[in-house]
Amino acid sequence: MSPIIFTCPLCGWRIYEPSATSSWMNEFRGLYLCSTEKKITLTGVGLYSDPEGGVFIAPPNTASRYDDDGYNISEQDQFGTWGYAVNNRRGFPMHDACWKLLEEAIHPEPVPLDRLFDVLDSLISAMYGKLDWGYKECCPPDGCAVKQSFPWEGVADSRQVTAPPFSSDPFSIDVDQILSRRFGTCEVPAPPANISSGPISRNDPFLSLPEELCTAIAFYLPTQDALHARLASRSFWHLFDCQQFWASRFIGRNSDLSWLFEVRRHPYRGARDWRWLYHQITDKDNNWNELIRGALHNRQHIWLSVLPIVEILELRLTPKVAVAEGDEQVVPKPGFNLRVGGTAAEHSDIWSPLKPGCRRRYKQYLPIPQERARISASTITAGSFTYIAGLSVVSDSQTVKVGYIGPKEKERSIELDASKLRVFNVAVGLRGIHALLFADSTSSAPWLGDPDDAAITTRLGNVADIAALEVWSDGFRLVEIAIVKKEDADCSDVENNIILRNSAVWYPDIPPAHLNLNEEFFFPAQSYTQGFKPLFWTHFGGPGGIYLKDLHRISWSTADEIMAFEFQKEDVPLDCRMFGRAPLPDSDDEDNLDIFDIDGPGGERITAIEISQKYYKEDGERWLMSEGALALFKVFTNRGRYYQFEDEPKPRSWNVKTKLFTSPPGYIITGFYGAQFQGLVALGVITELEP
Ligand SMILES: [Zn+2]
Repeated sequence: MSPIIFTCPLCGWRIYEPSATSSWMNEFRGLYLCSTEKKITLTGVGLYSDPEGGVFIAPPNTASRYDDDGYNISEQDQFGTWGYAVNNRRGFPMHDACWKLLEEAIHPEPVPLDRLFDVLDSLISAMYGKLDWGYKECCPPDGCAVKQSFPWEGVADSRQVTAPPFSSDPFSIDVDQILSRRFGTCEVPAPPANISSGPISRNDPFLSLPEELCTAIAFYLPTQDALHARLASRSFWHLFDCQQFWASRFIGRNSDLSWLFEVRRHPYRGARDWRWLYHQITDKDNNWNELIRGALHNRQHIWLSVLPIVEILELRLTPKVAVAEGDEQVVPKPGFNLRVGGTAAEHSDIWSPLKPGCRRRYKQYLPIPQERARISASTITAGSFTYIAGLSVVSDSQTVKVGYIGPKEKERSIELDASKLRVFNVAVGLRGIHALLFADSTSSAPWLGDPDDAAITTRLGNVADIAALEVWSDGFRLVEIAIVKKEDADCSDVENNIILRNSAVWYPDIPPAHLNLNEEFFFPAQSYTQGFKPLFWTHFGGPGGIYLKDLHRISWSTADEIMAFEFQKEDVPLDCRMFGRAPLPDSDDEDNLDIFDIDGPGGERITAIEISQKYYKEDGERWLMSEGALALFKVFTNRGRYYQFEDEPKPRSWNVKTKLFTSPPGYIITGFYGAQFQGLVALGVITELEP
């Protein structure tokens, strides 16, 4: 039988040792919920010795180990994983080594077990019992100019791409031996000749600061930045000889070498050559063997994975999250449903091929006052993305908070007349809300949170008579926001506003108003105005069609169903050259390419597009029956020529519908928009006025 492999939620590496001997990789602790005792328990250390059976047994006493004298491994001590309970216990296994590092990272506070369980229980299980923190897929090591996949695609974890360091035992280092050498010698380079007389120094504002202040500033800088500051300003030159500065590289949770936590407890703390120690550990030419290097490397890797979890555990719960109940004073208007969120596992009414990315666990209401108010958002980072953790609205009449509140430095606020709230943009991803933009007029306002690499929608904007927001969160972030209208409110403003530009979720941003989306020719338009079903777009013609005169080839990769536009000039932006993204690098194999050569320089222009959508006839995926997938499209030009691009035929029975879009007089075709899921599933045409 093949082994059942689970992945440690703390480091992302497997809990499994192929050689079946005991090692850090198969020594685990369990964090489980017992449904009869209603209690979260951290087990002692167990050994994953039956990977074929997928059995996790560990002593229930936190201080015990499987190899303690007198402990007998018993099925009574088994707990269930992956959502299933065994002995009324369901939970998560994690490496004991990673648990120790988590304890060190949060020290002197204890790890809050209830919170950690709630956070892990919020994540979706991806393949191999791996919890999906939302790490982006990794670009190939040689780098790539075009991102290879959309942020809502794939669950590959860049932390697993290269295996060797991640299998090293993070504790297989004799740290005491490293630390027992207290002093050494470092060569001190002489200052460059221009450091005190160069042109930079004369305008140097830091010269007016005392040395101690410059040292204090450097404490907050990454080491490389601090050392660069030395080259830019004489005021930082002393840093190289400042033991306080080098000590700061080890002390403090976010310092470069904080993962060498033993330093903080070592008896020689405070009486050592910190600079020498720093260079010993970071010098790539030190004479340590591969074992020590691997161990240090993996220690650092796990530490960097654990630190964001510590920040998540330190979020403060708002009262209603703590009791997990809705506010009964808010009465939602019946039948009114306007919401934006990730793909929640609990939604069954949205038909989508995308996998679930989050769970809706707690519902709260955030009343919107009819007066000036301050709206604040706390943010939290998980995986490769930053999410809104919680919101607060403070006005003369109310102070209401929902979700989770983080440290002040991760909070942003805006003030507005909440009775005139009109602009309400949401940056959203598969796993929840990334950023929010509120404004009481059409004037620009800053985003609260980080909208980068998220999809954007104005679906919640331009709604009158808002009573409250219905806010759903999981164990650490907001995953969905809905509008609650006043009970007697008119809903025609929302009903008239449901068009693709306003209500769809767009990536990387919303097409500007002067680009026509020709919605009536976009087959599945209706289903893209709700749920998380991102549309992406490309403006291959450029503003006013300026690139059309250079367009000479359109190619279609039949394997990936990605379009590429080739131009005679180099200065066409990359975004205008590609439509769609493939998770794997493109091959240059022309056998897989459909190629249409177009004479843009000679005046040939695309004038019409024919789109055929196929609908699955039989029982099957509901989205394929209701909104279908692209079957083929034809590109017509003003020279009476056309070319047909087709996906690879699949053995299924389909109904096919066809629409022909012809560019109206005075307009030019300059872009496409669409959606992809294992190929292009929907295609729309963008036009604009001919200049
Ligand atoms: Zn681990």
